[in-house]
Amino acid sequence: MENLQEVVIQGIGGSPGICIGKAYLVDRGVDVVQQYLLLDFELDDEIERFKSAVNQATKEMDDIIATVPAEFSEQLYILETHKVMLKDKKLYDKTCKMIETKKINAEWALKKVSAQIRRMFNDMTDPYFRERGNDVTHVTDRIMHNLIGNREHEQIQDINKRVILVARDLSPAETSQIQLNKIQGFITELGGKTSHTSIIARTLQVPAIVGLAGATELLKNDSIIIVDGTQGVLILNPSEDSLIAYAEKKVIDETRRKRMIRHSAKPARTPDGIQKKVMGNIELLEEVVSVLDHGGDGIGLYRTEFLYMASNELPTEDQLFENYKEVIDLMSPLPVTIRTLDINGDKQVRALKEKDESNPALGLRAIRYCLKRPDVFKTQLRAILRAAYYGNVRLMLPMISGVQEIIAAKTILAQTAEELARENIPCDPHLELGIMIEVPSAAILADLMANHVHFFSIGTNDLIQYSLAIDRGNHDVAHLFKPLHPAILRLVKIVSEAAHKKGIKLFMCGEMAADPFNVPLLLALGINEFSMNPPSIPAVKSMIRQIDTSNMDIFLDKVLKQESSDAIIKVVQDTYGDIFQETIRL
Ligand code: PEP
Ligand code: MG
Repeated sequence: MENLQEVVIQGIGGSPGICIGKAYLVDRGVDVVQQYLLLDFELDDEIERFKSAVNQATKEMDDIIATVPAEFSEQLYILETHKVMLKDKKLYDKTCKMIETKKINAEWALKKVSAQIRRMFNDMTDPYFRERGNDVTHVTDRIMHNLIGNREHEQIQDINKRVILVARDLSPAETSQIQLNKIQGFITELGGKTSHTSIIARTLQVPAIVGLAGATELLKNDSIIIVDGTQGVLILNPSEDSLIAYAEKKVIDETRRKRMIRHSAKPARTPDGIQKKVMGNIELLEEVVSVLDHGGDGIGLYRTEFLYMASNELPTEDQLFENYKEVIDLMSPLPVTIRTLDINGDKQVRALKEKDESNPALGLRAIRYCLKRPDVFKTQLRAILRAAYYGNVRLMLPMISGVQEIIAAKTILAQTAEELARENIPCDPHLELGIMIEVPSAAILADLMANHVHFFSIGTNDLIQYSLAIDRGNHDVAHLFKPLHPAILRLVKIVSEAAHKKGIKLFMCGEMAADPFNVPLLLALGINEFSMNPPSIPAVKSMIRQIDTSNMDIFLDKVLKQESSDAIIKVVQDTYGDIFQETIRL
C-alpha cells in the first residue's frame, strides 16, 4: 500500500466529537457561470426560463419539506425560510428586472443579484446574520442548478456507505436528505460556528469541521481522514499512532458525553449543596426544544431582534405577543427572560433604519434606540407584559450605560402597564426587571444600578468588546478577545459585589458562560445563573456539579493578582486540571 504523508489542517470546530473514516465529496457548487447578451425578442423567454427554474426549485423544496425525517423536524423552519426566499422580491423581482434591463442571460443576472444580497449580509458584523448570507447561496444554487440542468444534490441521497461528507457548503435542504446511518461527520469549506451546517450537526450530534478552506480540492473520495470536531482539526492520511490515539479519544469522549447528556436534566448542584441554574440562549422560537432537550433550567436570554429582521415590516403587537406566549407556554413553568430590542450596532432592521452611522457599535443601539422611539418600544413592552400574564417572565434591558436609562425605561414600562390595565387587557405589571451589564460604565456603577432592578445579567460578548476595545466581529483582532483578561474579571467582581450586597440576582448570558473551563472562576465570582447556547448546557452543568464552592477565596485572590489572561489560565489549569481531565478536553 502507498505510504501517504500525514497532513494536519486546522478549521473551525462546528460540532464536537471525533470520527474516523473515508471522505465522500459532494457538490463543488456552481462557480463557473457563462455570461451572454440577449436580443430584445429573447428577453420574455429568458424571464420565463428563470421563473420556471424558480418554480421547479419551489417544487423540490416542497418535496423535501414533505419528506423531512423526524430527526430534522427542528430544522423545518430553515427549509420553509429558503422556500420563501426563492420568491423574495430582492432576489426574484430583481433578477427578472436585471435580465430585462441589462439584456443578459438568467444565470448571469441571478449570479449578480445574489452577490449583491450576499454583500449586504457580509457587511453585518454579527456572525449570526453574516452567515445568513450562506442562505442566499443555497437558494440561488438550487435555482442555478435548475437553469443549467445540473442535479448535483441527488448525490447525497445516493450515498450507500458510512462516510464523512465533504462539501464546499451544505444547504439545509441537502443536509435534511442525509440518512444519518450513512454519515459519520461533515466537513465544509464555508461556514462558521453559527452556520446552519454547524447548527444541524450539533442538533444531530455529529462531529463537524467548518470553514476548512480548500477541503474539496485537498481531499479525494475515499481518502482516510480523522475529524476532530471539538478542536476543528482534520487529519488526512493519519499515521498508525494518530489512528490509535484518536480511536481512544473517541471512546473516552463518547462515554463522557453520554454520561453528561444522561445527567443533563438533573439540577446543577455543587458538591457543597449550592444550586445553580443553567439556562439557554435563543434567537428563535424553534430553539426552545433544544433548550429543553439539553436540560436547560429556563431561557436566560431571548434575543428578540429576529422577528424584526425577518421582514420589511415591523411585527405587530399581536404577532409579538403570540410568539412570546408560545415560548412561555413551551417552557412553563420554567422562567423565560425576554430581552427588549437590541438593534443597530451590528443588527440592522430594515423597517427601522434611519441613517447610516459612522460608528454603529457606539451609536443609536438597543435601549438608546428604544428610548428615542417610545412608539416602537411600547409595542414590544405591551406584547411582553401581556405574554407575562401566562407564565414566568423576566424583562431585560440591553446596553444600559447609566441609571437615567433605567429610570426612563421604567417610566415607559409603567405607562404601558397602566394603558393595558385601562383597556382591561390581562397582563403582569409585576414581572421581574433586569439589565444587561455589557458597557463598562454599567459595571462601574453597578452599586447604583442595583437599587433599581431585580437582576443583572452580564453580557460578556459586548462587555469584552467595549472594555478591551476589540470589535467582536473583526477577525484581525479576534486573538485579543479574551474573556479571562484581568480587566474583565475585575469588572465582573465589581458587579458581583454590588449585586450580592444589594441582594439582587447575578446572571451571565455572554459566551463566556458557555465554556466549562470558566466555570470554577465564575462560581468563585458568585454567578447565580449561567445562560448559553443550548448544546453547551450539559457540559457546564456537569462541571458545576464537580466544583466545591466552600473555599474559593484563596483561588480567586490568586487569580485576581495575575497580570495577564495567560497567567490566569495557568492558575485555573493548575487548580482544576484534574477535574477538567474528566469533563472537557483542553
Ligand atoms: C452579550 O453581549 O454578551 C450578549 C449576550 O448579547 P448579544 O450577544 O446579543 O449582543
Ligand atoms: Mg450584547
